[in-house]
Amino acid sequence: MSLIEAAKKGVHMTRKEIEEVRDRKLRAVVKYAFWKSPFYRRKFKESGVDVDKIKSVEDLQKLPLTVKQELRENYPLGMCCVSKDEIVRVQMSGGTTGQPVIIPYTRGDVERWKELMLRAFYIAGITSKDVIQITPAFGLWNGGFGFHFAADAIDAFVIPLGAGNTRNQIKFMKDFGTTVLCATASYPLRIAEVAEEMGVDLRELPISKLLLGAEPWTEEMRKHIEESFGARAYDIPGLTEMGGVGTTGFECRERKGLHVWEDHYIVEVIDPETGEVVDDGEEGEIVYTSLTREAMPLIRYRSGEVSAVISREECECGIEHMTIKRIRGRTDDMVIYKGVKFYPADVEAILASHGVKYYQIEVGNGIVVKFEGEEELISPILKDIKEFLGFKPKLVALKPGSIERSKGKAKRLVRVGDAA
Ligand SMILES: [Zn+2]
Repeated sequence: MSLIEAAKKGVHMTRKEIEEVRDRKLRAVVKYAFWKSPFYRRKFKESGVDVDKIKSVEDLQKLPLTVKQELRENYPLGMCCVSKDEIVRVQMSGGTTGQPVIIPYTRGDVERWKELMLRAFYIAGITSKDVIQITPAFGLWNGGFGFHFAADAIDAFVIPLGAGNTRNQIKFMKDFGTTVLCATASYPLRIAEVAEEMGVDLRELPISKLLLGAEPWTEEMRKHIEESFGARAYDIPGLTEMGGVGTTGFECRERKGLHVWEDHYIVEVIDPETGEVVDDGEEGEIVYTSLTREAMPLIRYRSGEVSAVISREECECGIEHMTIKRIRGRTDDMVIYKGVKFYPADVEAILASHGVKYYQIEVGNGIVVKFEGEEELISPILKDIKEFLGFKPKLVALKPGSIERSKGKAKRLVRVGDAA
């Protein structure tokens, strides 16, 4: 069976197969973590967990939650389930303060990363005929390598450019006829801007697909990107702690949300304040359990990602893996202002609907939204923010190019006067 065929089989598992595999793997991974990871043995013992009593997803809530701080405290390899000999690489998770969060991989983990990324390639119709340009960095951050492993495995034409040097990115897109561009969600905006300066019309290039991830982005922003490239933009989720980009799921072809690969990951949505699981449809923080990671499986890991379960029924696209909402933000990016809670993406949706692509939100004593655009936009934008989000920020219109461009994740939220 070719790798793409295997990916196709995984995508089209039936509900019955998914549930059977998921529960069997859950029983196995809980015991595996208990016996192989000193961290989980201690943690489960302290919480009075009897691992033999965990039989199916219904028992998940008997297990304690795992948090990022525990990964930091167990730096470098204290949560690992395998010996150092079996580790073939490490990647690093985001967050710039304190101890790094290191995610180790066995050979099997790298193989699964590739397999799961290939499910995304299969859904997006990416084949060996494609020219795949990879713009996320190659290094400790997982983006570059995640795309690379899969693109290489199917013998596509890979251009592993990595981050930055936008003029070169455009030159290569033109000279090699790039058909698939892999990037952080905000980078295509920068590419479009530089292409315009260079007199290149991106819509005339052969590029037909963009795989975008690493940060929340809105439907309104997607419209801008698709129009500037004349291509289809796909949302690809993934968290380093869960094995990196492309591992946890992929966007539904019908754009109904994200399908979670439930034969590899269990998703729960909790109330971030109480830790209790919320009802389907209700928004909360995603908690992942990785079922098949060998080097460092995580049980009930609080991701900080904000989403909601949309459906556990078969989707219109034919996929029977559960559907969740596209990631709206991260719990640490939530802003609470005069009793109103919002995420930068909520402001982005409004700004983008007025044609704004670059913006920054400053949170201090009040809220200042800076955007690149005409002064005339201030009043209609203010009206929409007031109506849809329920607060009144100060709006500042800036000249094009005033807001710093990023070659990775864009800095959309600035907290002024933070104690940190
Ligand atoms: Zn679907």
